[in-house]
Amino acid sequence: MIEELIKYGTVEEHATLKNLNTYHIGGTARYLVSPNSIQDLINILKLLKSNNTKYFILGNGSNIVLNDREYDGVVIRLNNLNGFKIEADKQMAYAEAGVMLPTLAKESVEHSLTGLEFAAGIPGTIGGAIYGNAGAYNSCLMDYVTSVTVINEDLELETLENENITYGYRTTMFKEDKKYIIVAAKFFLKKGDKESSLQLIEERRKRRVETQPLEYASAGSVFRNPEGDFAGRLIESSGLKGYKIGGAEVSEKHANFIINKGEATSTDVYKLINYVHDTVLEKTKVDLLIEQEFIDWE
Ligand SMILES: Cc1cc2nc3c(=O)[nH]c(=O)nc-3n(C[C@H](O)[C@H](O)[C@H](O)COP(=O)(O)OP(=O)(O)OC[C@H]3O[C@@H](n4cnc5c(N)ncnc54)[C@H](O)[C@@H]3O)c2cc1C
Repeated sequence: MIEELIKYGTVEEHATLKNLNTYHIGGTARYLVSPNSIQDLINILKLLKSNNTKYFILGNGSNIVLNDREYDGVVIRLNNLNGFKIEADKQMAYAEAGVMLPTLAKESVEHSLTGLEFAAGIPGTIGGAIYGNAGAYNSCLMDYVTSVTVINEDLELETLENENITYGYRTTMFKEDKKYIIVAAKFFLKKGDKESSLQLIEERRKRRVETQPLEYASAGSVFRNPEGDFAGRLIESSGLKGYKIGGAEVSEKHANFIINKGEATSTDVYKLINYVHDTVLEKTKVDLLIEQEFIDWE
């Protein structure tokens, strides 16, 4: 397998995944592959299909909870799909799936385009952010997407226009169906004022530093906010701020964040998320939905 895979990208065997996710937890991958191009990604997928090998697409690992054991398949990291283009006169941006969302947000502002300021503090890739329709401050990424290019189940490239993509709060058909791999997207932005956009980004950055435990490893909000309420408020009112399992802790600064105090294992994080869920359900009767995705826990 490895001889075939290295034709299409960089490959590592028994690769540690700890530094490839923002919780800094997890075991290893039997193979970790970074395809050189979209065509190479298709070639890899064809190879895996013919070998009946399981795989998982890794973005920046900022919304997942990995397992401590080895992932017995191929983890495909899209960090080399990192091309982007901004055309200010056409008010459009194009980015491949491995581009970091804050990079695209800041570059579009540099071109005096407005729209993506909300995304400057969301540490995901374009692929991961579209998949989960990342959002903040009442904006979400899909509101700015004109089309998404994917690899479909027949391992062919297909471009889907926004009106043919279903999405909602922190979800899309990509997340629901798991039929597509996102490889690139086009965005429609508006002409704006660079200085006021930069100011807005800076104000929000300061607010995040004040209200979120960014000094610790985490994967952002653990639970979705239920309609008309806040997951953080419910967790705090259930007396869980500061509650610990091993090296994982419910943040004192923001109760909807679970932080890795340094030595947390995946199992610590997994158990703590479930403990918080069950305790909130028991104490408040609210069944919180988990926003982060458990990978390979069955
Ligand atoms: C400090 C902090 C703050 C955060 N703040 C916010 C916030 O304000 N708003 C918000 O919405 N989120 C927030 N997040 C969560 C996270 O950054 C987003 O959900 C982000 O969009 C995840 O992108 P990712 O590339 O890290 O995806 P990953 O975590 O790598 O993957 C998430 C899922 O997407 C799938 N995926 C990734 N790339 C592709 C692809 N190309 N094609 C198909 N599937 C793919 C993966 O297989 C996985 O199932 C925050 C996280 C942190 C750590």
